[in-house]
Amino acid sequence: MIHFYNVTKVYPNHVKAISDITLHISKGEFIFLVGPSGAGKSTICKLLFCEEAASGGQIIFRGKSLSRMKRREVPYHRRTIGMVFQDFRLLPQKTAWENVAFALEVTGAPRRDIKRLVPPVLELVGLLHKADAFPAQLSGGEQQRIGIARAIVNNPLLILADEPTGNLDPDTSWDLMKLFQDINNRGTTIIMSTHDKQIVDTLRKRVIALANGKIARDEERGEYGLCD
Ligand code: ADP
Ligand code: ADP
Repeated sequence: MIHFYNVTKVYPNHVKAISDITLHISKGEFIFLVGPSGAGKSTICKLLFCEEAASGGQIIFRGKSLSRMKRREVPYHRRTIGMVFQDFRLLPQKTAWENVAFALEVTGAPRRDIKRLVPPVLELVGLLHKADAFPAQLSGGEQQRIGIARAIVNNPLLILADEPTGNLDPDTSWDLMKLFQDINNRGTTIIMSTHDKQIVDTLRKRVIALANGKIARDEERGEYGLCD
């Protein structure tokens, strides 16, 4: 589903964030991206989301080259990806329901579709009973569940999660990891950057370790290793 061929990213300040990366990801994989701060994890996510363009090499997403994608095609591409952030990034003036609905509104979904699609994803993340709560009235773990509901409501092929448990306590983090695994078991590919050694070492998913913009390790059933 995703292929990186000799991909390099140099930012305008001449920082080489990733360097000559070749990588293949199949549909349905669950991948932990690990590595010290500055290793290039976020850059990989930004390249996939077309927030940044590669400086060299090729990224093929579902058979299409991202560098050849036209500007007007980018919104459609982004709709196939759900993003989950460390700091949740919910809209504070909107309720849980409205935050999830908003992800559909921006795609131009009709009102009746929104009414039909929001309840089952709130149910899936276990927060249908808090549909009318505002983010400030929810715990961190609950806010992240809404972040996940928003990410999946468009039925994406890929979830990019950038340290989704980074601000949460261990028990809450584990609850969220169970949810991510449920979503993955429904066929959604997940790429998650994380510094949580315990989670990575317990779940034994594919681990791609980055160091200085290069792949230091790529292992099926991998471990966190010495990457901090
Ligand atoms: P990680 O997510 O692993 O912490 P990043 O991909 O954010 O790593 O960063 C990789 C390198 O690129 C770092 O040296 C970082 O300072 C640099 N970098 C990231 N984003 C930018 C940017 N927008 N402009 C300039 N340099 C950047
Ligand atoms: P249905 O067959 O009616 O779509 P599902 O049980 O498959 O019911 O889905 C229930 C909800 O979960 C739907 O609203 C859908 O948006 C969401 N959903 C569907 N597929 C996935 C998936 N791969 N990952 C996460 N959520 C999904």
